[in-house]
Amino acid sequence: MKSESHVNVIVVGGGAAGLAAAAAAEEAGLSCQLLEAQDRLGGRIRTVPLKSGVFDEGAQMLNGDMRAVLHLAGRAGAHLSPVPRTGIDLCIAAEESLRAEDLISADEIEALLEEQVVRWDSPLEVLRALRLKLKWWNTPWESVGEVKRGLKLLVEKPAAPKDSLAAALSALLLEEEEHAMAFSLFSEMLSAAPEDINAHAVRDISSRYMSERGDLEFQIAGGMGKIVERLASGLRHTPRLEAPVHGIRMTGGNVEVTAEAGVWRGDHVVVAVPPPAARRIAFDLHGRDELDGLLASFTAGDMIKTVVVFESAFWRRRGLSGSVIFSDPAGLVTVDASLDDGLPPRLIAFQGGPLAREWAALPRDMRQARLLNHLGRAFGEDVSTPLEVAEAVWVDHPWSGGGYNATVRIGGNPHAVARLAAWGDRVRFAGAELDDLFWGHVEGAINSGRTAIARITGDLKTAARRQLA
Ligand SMILES: Cc1cc2nc3c(=O)[nH]c(=O)nc-3n(C[C@H](O)[C@H](O)[C@H](O)COP(=O)(O)OP(=O)(O)OC[C@H]3O[C@@H](n4cnc5c(N)ncnc54)[C@H](O)[C@@H]3O)c2cc1C
Repeated sequence: MKSESHVNVIVVGGGAAGLAAAAAAEEAGLSCQLLEAQDRLGGRIRTVPLKSGVFDEGAQMLNGDMRAVLHLAGRAGAHLSPVPRTGIDLCIAAEESLRAEDLISADEIEALLEEQVVRWDSPLEVLRALRLKLKWWNTPWESVGEVKRGLKLLVEKPAAPKDSLAAALSALLLEEEEHAMAFSLFSEMLSAAPEDINAHAVRDISSRYMSERGDLEFQIAGGMGKIVERLASGLRHTPRLEAPVHGIRMTGGNVEVTAEAGVWRGDHVVVAVPPPAARRIAFDLHGRDELDGLLASFTAGDMIKTVVVFESAFWRRRGLSGSVIFSDPAGLVTVDASLDDGLPPRLIAFQGGPLAREWAALPRDMRQARLLNHLGRAFGEDVSTPLEVAEAVWVDHPWSGGGYNATVRIGGNPHAVARLAAWGDRVRFAGAELDDLFWGHVEGAINSGRTAIARITGDLKTAARRQLA
């Protein structure tokens, strides 16, 4: 096996986190080699052409607080198209279609909670009082930020059960219908069954999440792939593609990275691959048992994303926004993802959690027929004549585990996100799953890659000071 030359930093993984890490390393004057398993860069960002426009198979949306992505989009000269927001959101239960208009604001919920928590000491009483007011479950895409704040309150203020997110939801004593909507929404947002997800870990990530805006403010005309191009175009050292890494160990004072394509040695390594994919790498390092436990704490998400392009936005004529949460099937939501560039309008459907796993096993035609059937329940028979349908299946994905993101599973270490982000010195971890401020987003991936390099340069400065002293 060929042995490549020595570099300061080896970055494993060419998604947003790895690319941002490699760019930050080079900016800091460090030599860097990025190794990517696939024959392309971007990971869970992938923009592909459609007959009209493009389809972001993975990440697509951003909001005005996501400064790193906004900055890169600006430097790429990309146009930000506002996500259409007008019209009525729907919640579709088995037989019924509810309008998401009976809404209490997150501020009101918070004020109510503060008041109740001061007055009563029984969390159950607080939950019962909240039950009367909590209408934010019926807020599908009106403001995902609001739902996130609601989630934060749900698991932070009242004592959440020390087990699954499903148990935390049950403790809210919601009406059957609201419970079903909440269950569906979380199946989609976390792309996993709430009964498999650790409520405390969700509390951790949502309480630190720094944006109160909804995720769906803008999309990049031409696709999120422009962010990948921008990140990659600044690199001096060309990333090595089709180089899946399968071993990382310390030897002779260096870190040695073994890939099918060769062996690389470096002073430092940033492993910027999602935890489920990192489990396939053999780490021969000090603290390996703890590392194995942390990586095993994550469960990969299951997600199918489908774009359906139409000749006209017929849902708008009926006063609908295009945003729907279905409680049956749980995990299905839709959003209007039309651009302001005059191209034909489009709906995006996300099928998350157990629904994605079930539908992934179906033939493509059957899966898409089922989806169109459900869209018909919301929008009528116009859906039956789309111009184009395209999909991306992120279930058991070999290099990411799945999508949107991996989450800490029930039985896993509830602090796995923070611990893995802080783990190691010569070998460090990065990725969207490890960022505290923008967990699970491209913004978080970029922040996390940059943070890993900042830690390395911090260590190098400390070592240099020690040598001088
Ligand atoms: C359908 C979908 C929709 C999404 N929508 C949004 C959205 O609208 N907005 C948003 O902000 N985020 C969204 N996300 C989430 C976002 O895409 C991810 O959080 C982010 O892109 C992850 O970046 P990353 O670099 O951490 O990981 P990845 O993008 O997964 O990159 C990891 C890279 O490591 C490589 N790799 C894995 N194993 C190895 C190995 N052994 N050796 C070498 N390389 C390896 C992989 O091939 C991959 O390129 C979405 C995700 C999905 C799936």
